[in-house]
Amino acid sequence: MMVIMHESATAEQVAHVVARVEEVGASAHVSTGERVTVIGVIGDREELTALPLEAMPGVERVVAILKPYKLVSREFQAADTVVDVRGVKIGGGHFAIIAGPCSVETAAQVMESARAVKAAGGLLLRGGAFKPRTSPYAFQGLGEEGLKMLAEARDETGLPIVTEIMDPRDLDVVCRYADVVQIGARNMQNFLLLAEVGQLDKPVLLKRGLSATIEEWLMAAEYVVKGGNRDVILCERGIRTFETATRNTLDLGAVAVAKLTSHLPVVVDPSHAVGKWDLVAPMAKASVAAGADGLLIEVHSNPEEALCDGEQSLKPKAFKQLMDEMRPIAQAVGRDI
Ligand code: PEP
Ligand code: MN
Repeated sequence: MMVIMHESATAEQVAHVVARVEEVGASAHVSTGERVTVIGVIGDREELTALPLEAMPGVERVVAILKPYKLVSREFQAADTVVDVRGVKIGGGHFAIIAGPCSVETAAQVMESARAVKAAGGLLLRGGAFKPRTSPYAFQGLGEEGLKMLAEARDETGLPIVTEIMDPRDLDVVCRYADVVQIGARNMQNFLLLAEVGQLDKPVLLKRGLSATIEEWLMAAEYVVKGGNRDVILCERGIRTFETATRNTLDLGAVAVAKLTSHLPVVVDPSHAVGKWDLVAPMAKASVAAGADGLLIEVHSNPEEALCDGEQSLKPKAFKQLMDEMRPIAQAVGRDI
């Protein structure tokens, strides 16, 4: 439930409500707005209804949150969450392009791709060092070696790194290099992993599962935020449908729903959604128009040689052209690329 404080409520009154809530074993999350302070309360319904919250000094009213997800809901926090990655902001009107190869293959490949991303105006560099592959015989990623290559590219270009984590046992090594930790579609409901990244002091990019409903996706985000990590970026990357012409079906409706029901930033990954490089640009543009807070796009210096997802990767030139073509669309919907 939400405890909405009076405009004139004092810090002591807020602290008193928090203390009473915690006394019954519930948790209180304080959001201080420009005018009012709202305390999100999560805990046992019975215990909480027994608490005379509305009678406490400074309390204006108490409202129930009906959705199964609480902390990530708009009801809980009306203002957009703005995630800050080494000074690059995402959400709340800040638009960010994350781009780079599917997987880290060689130092030269990462560096060339990073330079191309930077030159075209991309703000973050992506690249997988731990790859979730359907086949156990496919390239599984370079591990720490790959993370070092990403770090070198960051040193030169200044682009923060977004990279995937698959296993809680890799948390230390991934966090030594990553600026944003990506949870892949296949791990969206790996609840132990979600709880672990919920403990981090690092933003998490949470991809929607292949066949996850929007509610399941937001519940996965709730796991992370519940752990104390408020910096979650949602990523729509296409879902499984009966359609076979594209790798997945890009669900832009989900972007609109997530923006409406959650305060978290929402980015779109058109590359994994369509699976074909020449379909990426139209869907990237549509995503900007639909109100996304950013894009995640696969860019490879030489897609023909890619060890993973070459068919959906843009060459640097096509990426630059897309960036230029997206700018007026972004401007029309109040974003700046
Ligand atoms: C990726 O970003 O390279 C990736 C594996 O994506 P997804 O988890 O969306 O399939
Ligand atoms: Mn990929």
